[in-house]
Amino acid sequence: MDDQGKEERILKGIPASPGVAHGPAFLFLKKELEIPSYQVPEDRREEEISRFEAAIVETRKQINTIRSEIEEKLGEDEAQIFDAHQLVLEDRALLDETEKEVLTSGYNIEHCYHKVANRYIQAFSNIDDDYIKERVADIKDVSRRLLHNLLGQIILSLTGLIDPVVIVSEDLTPSDTANIDTEKVFGIVTDQGSRTSHAVIMARSIKVPAVVGLHNITEQVKPGDMLIVDGYDGVVIINPSESSLFRYGKIRHERENIEKRFSSVLDFPSITQDNVSLDILLNVEGTEPEHVYQNSGATGVGLFRTEALFLKNEIFPTEEEQFRAYKRVVQMQPENAPVIIRTLDLGGDKNPVGGKFGYAEANPFMGFRAIRFCLEEPDVFKVQLRAILRASAYGNIHLMLPMIVSAEEVYSAKRMIRECCDELDAKGLAYNREIKIGTMIETPAAAAIADILAQECDFFSIGSNDMIQYLLAVDRVNDRIAHLYNPYHPAVIRTLRHVITIARNAGIPVGICGEVAGDPVYAALLFGMGATSISVTAAMVPEIKYLIRTMSFRDAQNLAADVCSLVNPDEIEARMKRFYDNRMRDVLTL
Ligand code: PEP
Ligand code: MG
Repeated sequence: MDDQGKEERILKGIPASPGVAHGPAFLFLKKELEIPSYQVPEDRREEEISRFEAAIVETRKQINTIRSEIEEKLGEDEAQIFDAHQLVLEDRALLDETEKEVLTSGYNIEHCYHKVANRYIQAFSNIDDDYIKERVADIKDVSRRLLHNLLGQIILSLTGLIDPVVIVSEDLTPSDTANIDTEKVFGIVTDQGSRTSHAVIMARSIKVPAVVGLHNITEQVKPGDMLIVDGYDGVVIINPSESSLFRYGKIRHERENIEKRFSSVLDFPSITQDNVSLDILLNVEGTEPEHVYQNSGATGVGLFRTEALFLKNEIFPTEEEQFRAYKRVVQMQPENAPVIIRTLDLGGDKNPVGGKFGYAEANPFMGFRAIRFCLEEPDVFKVQLRAILRASAYGNIHLMLPMIVSAEEVYSAKRMIRECCDELDAKGLAYNREIKIGTMIETPAAAAIADILAQECDFFSIGSNDMIQYLLAVDRVNDRIAHLYNPYHPAVIRTLRHVITIARNAGIPVGICGEVAGDPVYAALLFGMGATSISVTAAMVPEIKYLIRTMSFRDAQNLAADVCSLVNPDEIEARMKRFYDNRMRDVLTL
């Protein structure tokens, strides 16, 4: 029991982003609302209308708060959408009809408002006009918000959070996560999701503890419940007892000490005892606060996922906006530090708000995604290419293509890059003519033709997140089969070794930017296989650097040789765990 007499419940899910959080639950639910429907006695109908008025006042307040936050974060233009919401909320015809419906039909206010709003939505939906379609979306959004307020449920936006909370949701989309204000979110827990779903990767990059794949936490948590989120072990405690709070206070304290020890090497090079270095680079989304880049201990950016810029709003960012975002990241790095900007990887689980593309694909991860979309939408792609090229005048930018399966895709992309160079030349705009162009190796096809791709590329970066899902035929975001998504599978190990060897033989650098690189012992394995760099979220840099500095390169090579000779995933995992425990014992028993 907690101190208010609420029963403690412990749930186990998938640890998705490390850290321990404690705070009040915020239910961010997307399920269709269940609208109650009942008759109200005649003498109570005025009360229904008073409830309606109170909910309108509350909704108005919420919309105003969100408007101010968006104005501050994204500017006046983006904020204006909420003016349209206010107009819908105050629409006299809709309000009058609802009140009339209560008085004449005798049904409760939720039923009546839902009925009238739906009538409007139906009527407008039949009109084929873009402006009207937007109004339909506004009515849907506002009516849901108002109904939530009438039902005493929680609102549906993460942009307007006022006090820090733990978000509880069925699942988060990358656009949801892109709108999170890190100062207002202690932790994230979801029914669905997996370690490599993009929303989770984003949570890790903003250092918010998260546990996913909890199946039905949204049904177990009520507004006002307190939660502990243990992102190390994948545990969530609802209404923790005093003893759980005490235990987690201790765990948090111990972890802080361990992390302090790891951080003590942050300013030193990532170099083994026998003086072999492994470049540790950062995975970023471009939206992180400055300190993430500046005190990271990394020597550059190994993966700038550009999608976050495209997920926040319905309108894609202009060349100028993108140029500024890319230049900002370059300028936050030391001079000459590499910054690998990956071109747009929309699709899969990353769809812009408003479902701009209308992807309704049966297999989105094998669908119209990344380079496939970009090559078919040159107007979108070339805006981005020009922005990246222009930013390359300010630092050591590399350009990287995602989800390549054929050399022809690389040729086509390079052709477009050349066209963009010509366009910039015509305008007299500066860019780096020697910009390095590389590709992600994240499909089995790319791994199989790595030798061919190496002739066209200045570097490779292995995307293990996708590589594992395609190699093992395991959807990376499906929590039902998350246990089959196994980075220790020999098919994964062999493919990584194959690609690294091909790149080394071709004389080009090869990094790994998938999530496995953020596991310290996996980083050591990749190093032993010959990888020239790894790219990880900022939170993982200290521990990996600490481990690298405690070992010799020969240790890493022996680990790689052993692991490559094993055929059983459990044995591979156990061998790696032993390697880690032997070297980190001192720190772990602090
Ligand atoms: C990967 O697939 O490993 C990768 C880094 O790309 P993303 O996770 O963005 O698909
Ligand atoms: Mg990928």
